[in-house]
Amino acid sequence: MTRMIRTTLITTAVVYAGVVPALAQQGGRGPGFGPPGPPPKLTRIKDNIYVVENQAAKLSDLAAYGGNATIYLSDKGVVLVDSKFERVHDDITTKIKSLTNQPVKYLILTHNHGDHSGGAAKFEAEGAQVIISTRDRENLAKTPNQTWLPSMTYSGRATLFMSGKAIELREMRGHTAGDTVVYFPAERVICAGDLVTLPWEDIPLIINYGDGGNWTDWSHSIDELLKMDWDVLVPGHGPAIDKQQLRDLQNRMVQVIDRFRTLLREGKNQQEISQAILKEFNWGTGPAAGLIPGMMVELR
Ligand SMILES: [Zn+2]
Repeated sequence: MTRMIRTTLITTAVVYAGVVPALAQQGGRGPGFGPPGPPPKLTRIKDNIYVVENQAAKLSDLAAYGGNATIYLSDKGVVLVDSKFERVHDDITTKIKSLTNQPVKYLILTHNHGDHSGGAAKFEAEGAQVIISTRDRENLAKTPNQTWLPSMTYSGRATLFMSGKAIELREMRGHTAGDTVVYFPAERVICAGDLVTLPWEDIPLIINYGDGGNWTDWSHSIDELLKMDWDVLVPGHGPAIDKQQLRDLQNRMVQVIDRFRTLLREGKNQQEISQAILKEFNWGTGPAAGLIPGMMVELR
């Protein structure tokens, strides 16, 4: 790998892992991202569940607008899963108001990253109770320039009841130390946050070592997700998928991890492994490139 390519990869990876919130302040434009497309769209997942989803599942739109935000409607109020960046707050509230007169009662954050949690303080100021796992609140607390923190946390599991229907929060690990999966059993819908991201080419599966993520925990979490009873999974980025698509995605990543381990056992160095994985699986460039050094340690 030439030094220039390597520098580009590292720059892109650093941008994705740590500087996406900073990009939000620059209007979502950053190196290698290009201009974003039109604002997010509203997609109906089930009768009472909608997703505010970027029109293009690309890094440019991710940097401008953030990840998926899921709207759950009930006659006792709205439950929102993730808030995207603060700059799309008005867009999200306009979309919610087009569906219901009810206020946002709870905002559940799947994890601490700005593209999912950036708009949370504003929803809280408007009356929503924000909930995040204890571990990911700790991640948020150590984020530079973070002036606001959620007032409610949980560990393990928690359940909300809205109009008699359960909404389950399950703490899983992988992308961060305390990812929250939100499960709507009556609707058979699950929001997986960044444990699942799509499409592979533009927004690859990624874990965040700095925030306590790793591939071992990620694999266990995906196993757990596959055991649960649901029809539709809303990923952290990209369109909703079914169970077979999640299996396919897991198989693909497990193959990458297995191949990585084999190459490590063969004594290959970081550069050789990066090149092989990239060529064989089209994985490990862009945002995923920054994970390679961590994987050299974790998968050894
Ligand atoms: Zn994330």
